[in-house]
Amino acid sequence: MTGHVLVINAGSSSLKYSLVDAASGEAAATGLVERIGEDQSHHVHHGPDGDFDDDQAVPNHEAALEAAVRAFETHGPALGDLDIVAVGHRVVHGGSKFAAPALIDDALVAEVTDLVPLAPLHNPANLEGIKVARRLLPDLPHVAVFDTAFHQTLPPYAYTYAVPSEWLDEYGIRRYGFHGTSHAFVAGEAARLLDREPDDLNVIVLHLGNGCSAAAVRRGQSVDTSMGLTPLEGLVMGTRSGDLDPAIHGHLARVAGRSAEETDQALNSESGLKGLTGANDFREVSRRRAAGDERAQLAFDIYCYRLKKYIGAYYAVLGTVDAIVFTAGVGQHSAEVRAAALDGLEGLGIRLDPERNAQRADGVVSTADSKVAVLVIPTNEEWEIARQAVEVTQD
Ligand code: ADP
Repeated sequence: MTGHVLVINAGSSSLKYSLVDAASGEAAATGLVERIGEDQSHHVHHGPDGDFDDDQAVPNHEAALEAAVRAFETHGPALGDLDIVAVGHRVVHGGSKFAAPALIDDALVAEVTDLVPLAPLHNPANLEGIKVARRLLPDLPHVAVFDTAFHQTLPPYAYTYAVPSEWLDEYGIRRYGFHGTSHAFVAGEAARLLDREPDDLNVIVLHLGNGCSAAAVRRGQSVDTSMGLTPLEGLVMGTRSGDLDPAIHGHLARVAGRSAEETDQALNSESGLKGLTGANDFREVSRRRAAGDERAQLAFDIYCYRLKKYIGAYYAVLGTVDAIVFTAGVGQHSAEVRAAALDGLEGLGIRLDPERNAQRADGVVSTADSKVAVLVIPTNEEWEIARQAVEVTQD
């Protein structure tokens, strides 16, 4: 697997890019254009000569990618000097259609467009990124890597909601799961760290960033995951509620006259840690908790209790668990979350080493005699996208 891949993650008002060596994972350059379409945008490019910032207005995604290409020319590395073999695009929703990364052509663009109702905020932005990148870099193969693809191995009893069965056929209502690129990467790294084959290992992965999700991975395949039709289901997140009683929508409509859109918006953007404490950033919640703030303590307890319930559920799903892996901002850096989520699980063969847990942001944090290894592994979605893009183009 050789060559560099330009990895593009297009959001509604941002464009993140990374030029990744698919073999080593090393990024030759990374960059982010934010506030696209606003009066003052912000572009930061980290290249071999350090950081470069620009606050000029960037009207649209095409201008953002042009700015990125210019930054490569001016600040390096020169794109022509590297063996760039593909452009890898992060695409949030691949529906039931995509269980693997796919080469982008007009037919794929049409299929991803058909999936927009399932991801109305994300897929249009991803499509915009694909459109401008194909136009500006027409000589390279472009590959779509889907956040949902890794979870396409869920069995029907795990992905089907107990709702009228025609909802699945008519509206695609089922569980899809997200963060698949991260779960796939981290499960693979866990095998490497433990010197085992991925298809010989059962792992529970806890991706705890601004968005949070858990996955049960049996012998390298996702068999359950906590996010569902949308990324709202499951764990408590920065601004999302995670699991709740679906009757809340109807109840709020009746007692408060709230529309479905209003409740949806509140559950996605005003709930989770933010709803409970006013702060969506976990570090702020931790600071307040340490200072004795009761609401921050309650939010922390709810967050960790939900995690513990998912760990228990996925332990039962897998039967035998070799490793529990914590990743992303909170998972990697919060020793107190790991300790609270695993507290009292010694009966399941899970023994955290308090010293290792307090000291490490990477590696094994369980005791030598723990039946289940507890690991902290930094995720690297860009590298996983680069690897998958190379696999598709070099098939
Ligand atoms: P994203 O999902 O946007 O990629 P990250 O994986 O960067 O997010 O995770 C962001 C979350 O990680 C934030 O809630 C942030 O507060 C939390 N975080 C980052 N560093 C720490 C830390 N040292 N201790 C606790 N939480 C942290």
